[in-house]
Formats: sequence, structure tokens, C-alpha cells
Amino acid sequence: MAIGIFGGTFNPPHLGHLRLLEAFAKQFRLDRVLVIPTFVPPHKAAPDLASAEDRLEMCRLMFTDARYIVSDLEIRRGGRSYTVETLETLQAEYPGEALYLLMGSDMLLSFDTWFRADDIRRMCTLCAAPRDGETKLDGASAKLLTDFEPLVLSSTEVRQRVCAGEDPSSLTGGAVGAFIRARGLYEDAFTAYRRLLWEKLGAYRLRHSFAVADAARMLAERYGADADRAYLAGLVHDVMKDTPKPEQLSVMEAAGVSLTQAEAHNPKLWHAMAGEAYLRVRLGWTDAELLSAVRYHTTGRGRMSLLEKIIYVADFMSADRQYDGVERMRALAERSLEEAMAFGLSFTIGDLAAKEQVIHPDSVDCYNEIIIEREKGSSL
Ligand code: ATP
Repeated sequence: MAIGIFGGTFNPPHLGHLRLLEAFAKQFRLDRVLVIPTFVPPHKAAPDLASAEDRLEMCRLMFTDARYIVSDLEIRRGGRSYTVETLETLQAEYPGEALYLLMGSDMLLSFDTWFRADDIRRMCTLCAAPRDGETKLDGASAKLLTDFEPLVLSSTEVRQRVCAGEDPSSLTGGAVGAFIRARGLYEDAFTAYRRLLWEKLGAYRLRHSFAVADAARMLAERYGADADRAYLAGLVHDVMKDTPKPEQLSVMEAAGVSLTQAEAHNPKLWHAMAGEAYLRVRLGWTDAELLSAVRYHTTGRGRMSLLEKIIYVADFMSADRQYDGVERMRALAERSLEEAMAFGLSFTIGDLAAKEQVIHPDSVDCYNEIIIEREKGSSL
């Protein structure tokens, strides 16, 4: 019998692993391939490492062909997962059979530093495959997979996508994707909101929302506000922006929001009010400061809280913004939130006045308050 061995962290397994395994089994005419997730000692475990049980279960869902056997050998053994010890166990279990050990190019490059590398070479045939189209592998140090087109993909990328609220199934297949979702693996405190945004926003607005969240976190750290709250407010500030206007109106109506004349006249302002209404009524948010950061992110208002100012400025300076003057905006935001707001407000108010459009009185209040404070400061 020819027996293949494929080890890895499998956190989680993905279609790149599956493609590799299929090519390996075919080329070396393997009768059986043991898929062996490594034990990861607690002190090496990263926060986004799934438990050994979950990694084993995901491997069972991924490698379903009858020739593939998912083994908990290394997980049961615990401690550091030395490949040479795994091979000793397998030699005892399958005496006289040919063993083929598979690895990706990244592993082969460091192979000579592995514990008892020479013994490993004696005990099995080393087989290697590239992980991308560029890496050139040395055919002298291992048997190479020929005719193998790798999927350029890593578990790291899968984890990042899951955390960003995306369905990973196109990278992991549906069964592993559903398992990750059901177990809530690789999520952080904000993943549920990012997932909501994937449902409610188009690609442009989604990217903007992620960028505003990052900018808000950065400003919160700079000005001593709670970075997680700022990140969250930035993430959801435009939650209703891509929702059709009639639906925005009905969300506001259900939340008891009534529009002033200036607001009724300017549908571009509705998304901020509808966003507040949606978070309060549909999601049950009660945190008044978070809600008003969303509510006033477009117009501003007099007597804004630190968080409200942060979201207002973050929206103007996020990494995706490209207008003339954005660099000045970013430089001002480094110096003072109020200076950055004055710049943003004068831009907005000036632009509306030039087009003879209605200006919301909250913006004028906000602008006047900053200018008055500035003049008071300079006259001291
Ligand atoms: P991470 O991103 O967490 O480092 P990973 O994607 O490299 O994870 P591992 O479980 O560490 O996954 O990989 C197990 C084995 O599969 C390794 O030998 C690795 O080189 C190989 N491998 C992983 N992804 C691919 C791929 N897309 N194509 C070919 N080989 C791969």
C-alpha cells in the first residue's frame, strides 16, 4: 500500500488544501491519505485558533473521499507535534508500507531545520508542491508535484474574510463554511455588524464604512475616546445609506422621527436620521451617544460630544476619500478635531450656498460655535 501523510494546522482547512491533496493522491497513486491536524500547545495558540475538536471536525467535513482518513494522532499525543514521532507511530501501524509525506513549498524551505530531518527523509518520501505560480522548488530535496496548479489561498485569508463578515464558502466549500458560521469561529466583537453591512450596503459604501471605522478608531486613540465604541459608530454610520428612500422614511416614521422643513426638503440627509432610527428601533440600541454620533454625522450640530465629532471628521478623512483638500483635512484632524470640522463645514456650507441649496441649521450652529470658540481663544 502507498500511504500519504498530510499535516497542517487546518485553521480552517480550505479548498487549496483539498486541491493539493487530490493532486498528491493522484500522482503518487496513494491508496490512503492520513490528514493529521497538528496539536498546538496552549502557549503558541493565537486568539483566532479554533479548538482541536473544531479543526478535526472541519477536516472531516472537507476531506470526505473514502481514501482520506482524518487522524487525531498528533492532537491525542499533545505536546510539540514532531513529524518524526508521527512517522514512527505510522511505521508501527503500517509495517512495510511506503509512506509519502506531503508539504507545501513554505514548509519545504524550512525542512532542514526540523527535528531529526535526516531520520524523516529515511522513513518516507518527501513530496512538495508550490503554493503559488512563482516559487521554484528544488527537485533534489523532494519529489515535486507535477501538473499541479495551486489555488493561491491561505487559512489566514479565510479567517480574515470571516472576521470581515463575509461568507467563506467560496474558499472552504459549503460544509466547512456552514460549520464556521454555526460555531462563530474567527469572529470578533464586530463581525455581526460587518455581516449586517454586507446585507445592507453596496461594495463602495461597504468599503467606505470599514475605512471610516478605522479612521474613527485612530482618532479615538488620538483624542482619548473609547476606541471600540468609535470603531463601532464608524462602522454603522451609513447603515441606511443604500436603502431606498421610501424605506428610510418608513423606518423613521416607525421610530417616531419627524422631519423639520429643511430635512424634509433634503433627502440626502435622511440616511443619518434613518440610521439612528434603525439602530434604535430595529436593533434595540439604547446608547444615546452612539445613536447621536450616527444621527449627526452628516450635519453636525452645536455642542457635539467627542464621539460625535470623531465620527463627523472620520467620515471626511477616511482612507477611501479622494477629494481635493483631503490631505489638508487629514493634517488638521491630527492637530484639532474642531479645526478639521471647521474645514469640513465651510466646505459643505460653501458648496450648498454656491448651488443655492437649503443648509441645515444644525450645520450653521456647529460652524458658528467653532468659529466663536476659536475667536474667543485667539482674543485671550
Ligand atoms: P495559515 O494561513 O494559518 O498559515 P495555511 O493556509 O498555510 O495556514 P496550514 O494548515 O498551515 O495552512 O497548511 C498545511 C499544509 O498545506 C502546509 O504544508 C502548506 O504549505 C500547505 N498549503 C496550504 N495552503 C496551500 C495552497 N493554497 N496550495 C498548496 N499548498 C498549501
